[in-house]
Amino acid sequence: MKQDVKQGVLLYAGKAKQVFSTDDPELLWVYYLDQATALNGKKKVAIDGKGTLNLHISGLLFKELAATGFPTHFVTDMDNQNMLVRRAKMIPLEVVVRNRASGHFVSRFNVTPLRVLDPAIHEFYYKSDALDDPFMNDEQIVALGIAPRATLDTLRTMADQVNTWLTARWARAGIELVDFKLEFGRLADGTLVLADELSPDNMRLIDAQTHASLDKDVFRQDEGPLVPVYAEVLRRLQATQQEVHHV
Ligand code: 5GP
Repeated sequence: MKQDVKQGVLLYAGKAKQVFSTDDPELLWVYYLDQATALNGKKKVAIDGKGTLNLHISGLLFKELAATGFPTHFVTDMDNQNMLVRRAKMIPLEVVVRNRASGHFVSRFNVTPLRVLDPAIHEFYYKSDALDDPFMNDEQIVALGIAPRATLDTLRTMADQVNTWLTARWARAGIELVDFKLEFGRLADGTLVLADELSPDNMRLIDAQTHASLDKDVFRQDEGPLVPVYAEVLRRLQATQQEVHHV
């Protein structure tokens, strides 16, 4: 366990996390904030306990996913609000996978919410708060030098593998995976790894029986307090933790 690294300087302050250097140049320290944001940060509320819940959900999923051999940045969760990760140069793309229609897909195409999408849809968004994370197609990404085509193919394949694994993992917990957003980066040796987080902040989850929201939509749509919902998600994950599924 690499729990003895010292926290260094703040490198990046995001909406839900802060990233610090450590005394090991290969490792970063990620602090999960007690804060929820929506509408690209226009709606922002402090929520006690959210950081700890997201850290535990994310840590549990990263640990299980990494155990299948899938490359991730995860090293260890250090305490209730900090995670140690490998330093990666981030690709400035959000990779979204949709199994059912929700959120922007519903408003863009005026389709029935939760309509099953077969095949699952992949979308890329340029990660830029100033531009409001605009949608990008492959040619736009390649022509602007953000990533070469081969990397986009690899990102789609990796996102599919995560989708297969995560869908099965949530199903064991009585939860359906509607859609999610991933971010990838490269380690110093060039290895592509899944980075960022795996939590109800960056995926839509519904109860398999009732279809009730079990993710940040509760906050986005003012449906009630977020903490009991995230606590229930963590409880279900922990209750179904025994097996390891291979991608
Ligand atoms: P939508 O495009 O419908 O808003 O989002 C699709 C999926 O990606 C949802 O699960 C949503 O949580 C996630 N997502 C999209 N953009 C962002 C973002 O900027 N931050 C986070 N945390 N998740 C996002």
